Amino acid sequence: MKIKRIALILLAFFSLLFVNTVFAQTGQLTLRMSRDWGYGGFNGDIEGLFSMRVTGPADLARVEFYIDSAKIGEVTQPPFNLQFNTDDYPLGNHQLYAVGYSTSEQEYHSNIIPANFVPKQSTLKFILPVLGVILVAVLLSTLVPLLAQRGKHLNLPLGAERKYGAGGGGICPKCHRPFALPLFSANLGLSKLASCPFCGKWSLVRVESISKLREAEKAELEQAKPGEQIASETEEEKLRRELDASKYKE
Ligand SMILES: [Zn+2]
Repeated sequence: MKIKRIALILLAFFSLLFVNTVFAQTGQLTLRMSRDWGYGGFNGDIEGLFSMRVTGPADLARVEFYIDSAKIGEVTQPPFNLQFNTDDYPLGNHQLYAVGYSTSEQEYHSNIIPANFVPKQSTLKFILPVLGVILVAVLLSTLVPLLAQRGKHLNLPLGAERKYGAGGGGICPKCHRPFALPLFSANLGLSKLASCPFCGKWSLVRVESISKLREAEKAELEQAKPGEQIASETEEEKLRRELDASKYKE
């Protein structure tokens, strides 16, 4: 009993293999369709530029491509690909298939791919949401850093050591003050598009090393010192003058 069962299983297994090889030898064509440019929706709705690709037995010599009963092209050497534009054919349901011939003129048939050719405006319907998503992404990548930067440490004292975070830091090419760069921003190589929180000007700012940034912080102090001293001196002078004036009044 057991041996009989094993024999049956083996027989089934080998017959499957046999069927497979016979199938490959009689060589039916396998037809696939791919989208090159355009719209491919559900229920076989297509519009635009598509390719039919046929694979088959080794002795396949030429392939004729059909849309319904009309032959749309013939390819006489591999790869057996044919590009077509749905706009060149009437709208509606069609059957796409291929017929191949071997070197000895044996005929092979492919599977049939049903397709519904839809009008061109469907492409817009497909592209518009994609464009919308891209637009939103671009807006977010420019607006978010802008909003994140608004009102951030604008009154930082000169020369103060600051934190630069994950976005790194850069030195404003206009006012030469260092500041933290936004993490998400339009990138151009090592430079980032950012608005300086001190002078408010937009520029492409190079991402600098921390030592360069610390140098710039110190340079800030040195740049400001003469100006500040003059300012404080005049303040003092003013006070003195006022004091003097009040003394004279007494
Ligand atoms: Zn600046």
